Amino acid sequence: MADEAPKLPQFAVLSLSGCAGCEVSLLNASEWCEKLRLVYMPLVVSAHHIPDEVEVLLVSGSVRNDNDAYTLQRAVHNVSRVIAVGTCAISGGITHLGDRDDVRELFLSQSNRFLLPHLLARTRPVDAFVDVDMYLPGCPPTPDLFMAALLHPEGYKASSIVCAECGRRKLADMRPKHLTGFQQGEVLPDICLINQGYLCVGTSTRGGCHAICTRPGHPCVGCRGPSNVFIEKESSVWLEKIQHVFEHMTDIPPEEVNEALRSPQLSMFLFQFSDYAGGDRPPRSKEKVL
Ligand code: SF4
Ligand code: SF4
Ligand code: SF4
Repeated sequence: MADEAPKLPQFAVLSLSGCAGCEVSLLNASEWCEKLRLVYMPLVVSAHHIPDEVEVLLVSGSVRNDNDAYTLQRAVHNVSRVIAVGTCAISGGITHLGDRDDVRELFLSQSNRFLLPHLLARTRPVDAFVDVDMYLPGCPPTPDLFMAALLHPEGYKASSIVCAECGRRKLADMRPKHLTGFQQGEVLPDICLINQGYLCVGTSTRGGCHAICTRPGHPCVGCRGPSNVFIEKESSVWLEKIQHVFEHMTDIPPEEVNEALRSPQLSMFLFQFSDYAGGDRPPRSKEKVL
């Protein structure tokens, strides 16, 4: 009789309101295929419900409507470990766009027609409804971050900030007077994007993404969230630190930096604050953030 295949630990993926980019990033990783069994992920696995004995539940997307809240609360039963995955699940991400009045009005004008789920008053993070054992920030988290979260979270340590992984040099004598528009102008290789007038927030953004944006020349928009220094503090401290960096490294008027930091150009970065600034939940422990 042939040997039975070893029973692999099972994991599931629950997608709430998001863009499914987190799921695509997970599928771009392959190491888990031989070590874990994916038993639920509507994007690729045909299963009507999350089976019992699931070791890890990854939750992506935020709680935007009553259906998200119901599905999430049901899903965590019989699950050993819950990981909130991606900026949307942790701090709202792009789904905070639905908190804008014009988007809400558009949605409400169609909701009866299409029997859509009811919007909550505002987007909520996953941990507003269920206990979360680990946070995996990023938009989306890179495949190797997924692997670290699933297979060896204890052995993983992210770099403190994106700058530590970027490799661009900060120069004392290259001080721009104004911001360079997003995606405009030539980007010089090897030199810090702030020296070139770009609004990069890598100086206080958590590392771990291998600086995949900044190395080819795109400013960091902070999708990995605040570094450990800021994670348990008020969001305003993070914002002020970035403003200080620009005062220190450039001659750009502070009001220009301040306005740009709050503009839609940095929407991913900004949307992290709508949760942090809420004041209705204690700060997350940095030990739980990968
Ligand atoms: S965190 Fe980013 S990639 Fe993941 S669901 Fe949200 S918008 Fe999409
Ligand atoms: S380009 Fe951004 S991430 Fe790279 S060193 Fe400069 S501030 Fe840091
Ligand atoms: S460089 Fe910044 S925006 Fe890009 S993936 Fe890393 S943390 Fe996210």
